[in-house]
Amino acid sequence: SRMSLSWNFRFGIVIIGDSAVGKSSLLHRYTEGTFDESRQSPLGIDFKVQHLDFDPGILIKLLLWDTAGQERFRSISKSYMRNSVGCILVFDISQRQSFEHIQSWHKEVQDYVKPATMIFLLVGHKSDLVIRRQVRKTEAEALAKELDMAGYIEVSSKDNVNVTEAFETLTREIYQRF
Ligand code: GDP
Repeated sequence: SRMSLSWNFRFGIVIIGDSAVGKSSLLHRYTEGTFDESRQSPLGIDFKVQHLDFDPGILIKLLLWDTAGQERFRSISKSYMRNSVGCILVFDISQRQSFEHIQSWHKEVQDYVKPATMIFLLVGHKSDLVIRRQVRKTEAEALAKELDMAGYIEVSSKDNVNVTEAFETLTREIYQRF
């Protein structure tokens, strides 16, 4: 069977960023393959599993946590952070403020994990809203570099652009550091 022929890995990944940047939609698009504008973001913590056939003989199971920003869920989010190896920091390219909060989200995560073990990816979300862009690609790239992240990628869950690529880029980075 595939099980006996594969190396199996299990990576925890947390998705973090301001509320309404589209974290829940991103997770939903990646795991269910759909986008629904009228969907309500789940309250609290959402959890999904996704299997990735990575390289031949390498099977990766991603444990994906969508962390709610609400204060009363913060302590729960932190326990997931501690058990994760990857972090997707999300902002909305049409909301400048969500980009300006990235540094403090990054610091908050760093404070709760051993810094060397968490690998970050910066996602500029809602790239379909390019006419309302408030964050330049170059400055987001510069921030990702400054914070020593695995990279910066612009994603649209609505148009299904770069969704898989984002998760695979982070997974590859995690895998290579193991
Ligand atoms: P969360 O609070 O970060 O989990 O954000 P949600 O997933 O609830 O999304 C917030 C709003 O942004 C919703 O109205 C979504 O329909 C919308 N949204 C999510 N992803 C995209 C996207 O890629 N493009 C556009 N234009 N809107 C999006």
